[in-house]
Amino acid sequence: MIVEMRTGATREEVDSVVQKAKSLELGVQLNIGTDKTVVAILGSNTGQIPTDIFAVLPGVESVTRIMKPYKLASRAFKPRDTKVNCGGVEIGGERIIVIAGPCAVESETQIMEAARAVKKAGASILRGGAFKPRTSPFSFQGLQIKGLELLAKAREDFGMPVVTEVVNPQEVEMVASYADMLQIGSRNMQNFALLTNVGKSRRPVVLKRGFSCTITEWLTAADYLLAEGNNQVILCERGIRTFEDSIRFSLDISAIPVLKKASHLPVIVDPSHAAGHYSLVPAIAKAAVAAGADGLLIEVHPNPKEALVDGLQSLSTSDFTRLMEELRTIARSVGRHI
Ligand code: PEP
Ligand code: MN
Repeated sequence: MIVEMRTGATREEVDSVVQKAKSLELGVQLNIGTDKTVVAILGSNTGQIPTDIFAVLPGVESVTRIMKPYKLASRAFKPRDTKVNCGGVEIGGERIIVIAGPCAVESETQIMEAARAVKKAGASILRGGAFKPRTSPFSFQGLQIKGLELLAKAREDFGMPVVTEVVNPQEVEMVASYADMLQIGSRNMQNFALLTNVGKSRRPVVLKRGFSCTITEWLTAADYLLAEGNNQVILCERGIRTFEDSIRFSLDISAIPVLKKASHLPVIVDPSHAAGHYSLVPAIAKAAVAAGADGLLIEVHPNPKEALVDGLQSLSTSDFTRLMEELRTIARSVGRHI
């Protein structure tokens, strides 16, 4: 951490910074220039020390962090790639894993038809929301327990692991008793009570990026899961809010190589929630595979026109089947397979 003193800061002001660092058992290095003094604060855990501790001291101009605030999610902490096992399906290896299914579980017929079609097209994991975090309290909130039961039935009938979102920290164990993998939604990426409980559950988890969160905040949120001993964490880029309004969210394609460098965790991409429209999904999905994603999370509905949630961005089963074929070519071109 670098503390830059104001021009003309007094010796006492510099000393108070040095004393503060020493009281935290941190090392210091002083660079006394003709106009300005810069204090380097040294230690292996400066990433965890709030910059405000120094920023509030008199005579301090600015404090710049050099160490990242996340630790367990970093590649420096674990140089080798983490592989996640979801009900026997490995994510983070050479094979690109496709997770597909409807936004919400709506009925037995709907989830069974979706499961049959996505499995036939080559998806490995079935998705379906039982608890839907909706912007409005008057929108369909999901079938809840009934939805979980239907997902468990689809898993039995089609031999496919299932992933579903958990929204309530008190319901983690209950949802984990039905699902092979838990999803933490974009709106809950910084729900720290939820992260802690999902970390305790030991189920693999898809941590979606908060749509207003930086990559550093995202990896620091992943540390909440990892700190509880759950190392089965997948990061899912799903688009962020920018000034651009021609698409639902801007998919941050560069997050893929940035995360691959910064972290050991597998990275998947959800093109559906970024696109907001079915016609945009295939191009984004293909770009994600080309950019190095370990998997995709795609919304597919047997009858998108009748969908209760996110119908416009859901692929029909035939569009999904076509996309899977195209993805195979892209995967091969980057030395991977689906
Ligand atoms: C979802 O996957 O259905 C979902 C609600 O996604 P997000 O949290 O990314 O909006
Ligand atoms: Mn959705």
